[in-house]
Amino acid sequence: MILGITGGIASGKSTVTDVFRSLGAAVVSADELSREVVRPGTPTLERIVQAFGPGILRSDGTLDRKALGEIVFSDPAMRERLNAITHPAIAARAEERLRSLVLEGERLIVYEAPLLFEAGAEKRVDEVLVVTVDEPTQLERLMARDGIGEAEARGRVAAQMPQAEKASRADFVIYNSGDRQAAAEEVKALFRRLVGASG
Ligand code: ADP
Repeated sequence: MILGITGGIASGKSTVTDVFRSLGAAVVSADELSREVVRPGTPTLERIVQAFGPGILRSDGTLDRKALGEIVFSDPAMRERLNAITHPAIAARAEERLRSLVLEGERLIVYEAPLLFEAGAEKRVDEVLVVTVDEPTQLERLMARDGIGEAEARGRVAAQMPQAEKASRADFVIYNSGDRQAAAEEVKALFRRLVGASG
């Protein structure tokens, strides 16, 4: 089966996904796919350059994600334009990768996608796990991980779909406000439940 994992920024998606991987799940990461589809020579990168200009390329021809991020961060129309180019490419790649893992007989495939709901990727997975964390802890972990201040951290959190909304659309929720050990135990319990007695 395919389990989608999503949640807010710094909720612990990667941390939870790593535990699934260590237990033997096959993992597909939407973030990784999003980097693959814009490699030099891809039609997606070509379309991004057409839409946003050659200024978003570094001198070596790779995408300058920071420059592009600055353009789309403050401009919803630009963001939509970018998503209209990248989301279908990521979706096609995800579909392909997930299907081949199913054909290989993988019992549990995890699709980690920060924007699972926003991108309509629920339809590509059988069940959805949302990782949540209380907001003070979320801000603290985000500031520590990314080396940013509180105002910026609050801004990034506020720009996202609220965690409560994500959780309300989940089949399973892991609360990651405790320590890593507690999160790992929850993942193990869910893993056993999903893979069944045979696992
Ligand atoms: P996401 O992938 O959702 O953005 P991460 O898994 O990167 O979130 O977690 C955000 C930060 O918090 C990371 O630095 C991670 O190591 C840390 N972290 C995650 N879960 C815990 C936990 N239960 N206890 C302490 N730190 C944690």
